[in-house]
Amino acid sequence: MIGKVYRVAALLLFAAALVSPAFSRENPRHPEWTRFEFTQVHMGTEFKIILYTHDADAATQASNAAFNRISTLDNIMSDYNPGSELMQLCQRAGGPPEHISDDLFRVLSQAQELSQRSSGAFDITVGPVVRLWREARAQRQLPDPDGLAQALKLVGYKNLRLDPLNRTAELLKPGMLLDLGGIAKGYAADQAIAVLEDRGILRALVAGAGDIAAGAPPPGERGWVIGIEPLDPQDKSATLFIRLHDGAVSTSGDSEQHLDVAGVRYSHIINPKTGFGLTGHSSVTVVAAKGITADSLATAVSVLGPWRGLELIKTYPDAGVLFVVRTGRGLRKYELRFPPSALLKPTNNF
Ligand code: ADP
Ligand code: MG
Repeated sequence: MIGKVYRVAALLLFAAALVSPAFSRENPRHPEWTRFEFTQVHMGTEFKIILYTHDADAATQASNAAFNRISTLDNIMSDYNPGSELMQLCQRAGGPPEHISDDLFRVLSQAQELSQRSSGAFDITVGPVVRLWREARAQRQLPDPDGLAQALKLVGYKNLRLDPLNRTAELLKPGMLLDLGGIAKGYAADQAIAVLEDRGILRALVAGAGDIAAGAPPPGERGWVIGIEPLDPQDKSATLFIRLHDGAVSTSGDSEQHLDVAGVRYSHIINPKTGFGLTGHSSVTVVAAKGITADSLATAVSVLGPWRGLELIKTYPDAGVLFVVRTGRGLRKYELRFPPSALLKPTNNF
């Protein structure tokens, strides 16, 4: 498992499928499309695949292949499984550079690039601190300050060195621990979409809780209609809908995973500078071309806050963000290049 997710941050809804002439041209002998839906648990969360095709066997085989790809990535990137490639690498922290798989190298590289661009707000070396907050949540008390100070000494993305020529990774300090909980699900959703496309299934969507990647739209539709529940899952009237295809959307927030102590809510997202869980009561939704980008940016922007967060998003020309924060005077929304949220009337829920 990569990270426990108790929250379904985004719910997907879809409008009635119509087969327009343009789409039936794709396969003139089989004009009817069938919607298929499959669910499996990976990376500590429920992954859902929704796809349209004409053939039930092809749908089952393709979705199994996509889930197998996600499972392979879980075995590489899990921080719960001591046998994962990631945890094996961490066990030898302080040693010489090590060869790593293409998948791990790609995710570590993208994480490091974001660390630089976000001035360390996104930092996968936050692992030792994340562990303490996980224990703290289980025991419902704040982490011990001395332990936290010790753990914080091991945090710092500059202590992870990557060599693209030799495809190696080096962890400079013994005891360092990498945590891909803020990036791996988005990458897994991208890879699942790629597996489906390789098998000719283009009209598909993959959702790992709040991390969603989409291919071509459902037949006759202009996109997948995705409902985003910022901050308060109870308040259904606050749900916004976006239409998405050939892109990704991720939501990060504290609506489910958090620790409440003395009236303060600490999020599972950590500020790597302080070692503390965020206390700002925010929900950040990012749209981007790829899930790996949307997922990691949503975490980074959560740490940066609305002002610096929107500045960061400006440097990604194909990304947009909706930042919702609870204040004493209700919800405040900040958005940049966020797809217009039309008032849609979806016919079904997922
Ligand atoms: P979710 O897991 O709910 O989808 P995120 O994508 O925001 O939410 O990821 C949060 C997870 O990322 C945490 O559970 C932790 O494993 C890891 N994490 C926490 N803080 C940071 C950070 N500052 N930078 C990178 N990863 C983080
Ligand atoms: Mg994230």
